[in-house]
Amino acid sequence: MNKSLIDWSHQEFSNLPWRKNRTLFRTLVSEIMLQQTTVSTVLNHFERFIQEYPSVEHIAKATNEQLTVSWKGLGYYRRARNLKKACEYFHENFNGEIPLNFDLLIEAPGIGEYTANALLSIGANQKALALDANLERVLSRIHGIKEQKGPKLLKLLKKKFDEGEIAPDIEKFGPRKFNEALMDLGRNWCKANKASCDLCPLSHDCSAASSGRPLDIPIRPAKKSGDISFNLVLLRLLFFKDGHIYVYRKKESEWLAGQYEVPTFTLQCEDSNFSQYPFLDFSDHHFLPEYKTLITKYRITNKVLVVNDQDLKQLNVDPSLYQLKPVDANSNLSTATMKAIQLLK
Ligand code: SF4
Repeated sequence: MNKSLIDWSHQEFSNLPWRKNRTLFRTLVSEIMLQQTTVSTVLNHFERFIQEYPSVEHIAKATNEQLTVSWKGLGYYRRARNLKKACEYFHENFNGEIPLNFDLLIEAPGIGEYTANALLSIGANQKALALDANLERVLSRIHGIKEQKGPKLLKLLKKKFDEGEIAPDIEKFGPRKFNEALMDLGRNWCKANKASCDLCPLSHDCSAASSGRPLDIPIRPAKKSGDISFNLVLLRLLFFKDGHIYVYRKKESEWLAGQYEVPTFTLQCEDSNFSQYPFLDFSDHHFLPEYKTLITKYRITNKVLVVNDQDLKQLNVDPSLYQLKPVDANSNLSTATMKAIQLLK
């Protein structure tokens, strides 16, 4: 590790809100928010969320529905439910404190190895390596470890860390600054598809840079059939009555569990195993302008139709199938449902 990298990281990124007024709780929230979400997105939501839920207890006592509303804009709502489970556990078992012990931390639901190590290293400045995708990539490049990205590589990096072979100077720089600097490096210069070795202060000590082919490390897994994406066409029905939009609540087993959606049908799907929405044989209607969304491996074209009671009957939409209920605009509506409603404005 190089002091100029630590200084660059501190100078450029110490203003990130979760790096100020550091507490374990703020670290827990920010680390869970930052998983699979960009820094710029989290910047728009972190302080607002913390003001709404200033402690473990506030999150533990919130309902899942309240939390999903507050999580809006951050996506991947399962993380909000996991955060709540972890806070409930800390509230019940540790009086709302977050224990500073790896074995106790990973006992908590919703806390995996990465988050436990992030809490120790970044939250409490204790010796630990928070091996996220950035650290996995940067450390394997610096040390020239030609292993496939994934569990085997993470295990190898951890073993080398425990044996002092990698990051031997972590305590010299401080575990917090060390981890943060590597994360910043991975996010800005040493990216998966572009390595700016000319700008990187580690270029003289980096095995991948001296090989001239930094992007070859770590080895990327071959594409599996599961990586294929599918085109999907959905029909969204806007049914208004007495100034309310009628929606149904998504079940735990469905996409966007706990959120409200307008009745939705599958018109076409390239994936014959798709079962999130019932199929409807339907065409020849005047739809509102369509919009695109993306969820997991599905590229979705959303067609929207405004309907009345009569239309619902003609379409054979069984209201009991959806248990439709009226809600107002402040309810926990899915993003796709909000986009459909906005077409009318
Ligand atoms: S020198 Fe290049 S490959 Fe090595 S850590 Fe820096 S950006 Fe990554």
